[in-house]
Amino acid sequence: MTREEYMKLPICQSCGMPMQSPEQYGKHADGSANPEYCIYCCPEGEEKMQGTLEEMIETCARIETKMGLHPDEATAKEKLAAYLPTLRRWKK
Ligand SMILES: [Zn+2]
Repeated sequence: MTREEYMKLPICQSCGMPMQSPEQYGKHADGSANPEYCIYCCPEGEEKMQGTLEEMIETCARIETKMGLHPDEATAKEKLAAYLPTLRRWKK
């Protein structure tokens, strides 16, 4: 996949993960695909989505640091605390 293709992928509006295939899309309550969210954030419809923004920052920081995207968790948390609130789920 080229960088251009990667940039065009739909992004989960809860955790910011780019979704590379329809299997990674979340679901509506009726089981149909919801490409706004990933399957991890939204497996059973938006009404059933759990967790707070703070928990999302913690979880993503741990995963993304493991993936080597950030030098350490403190940096990861700082970046995520600035980025995640721009996604639709957290915009109020
Ligand atoms: Zn997600």
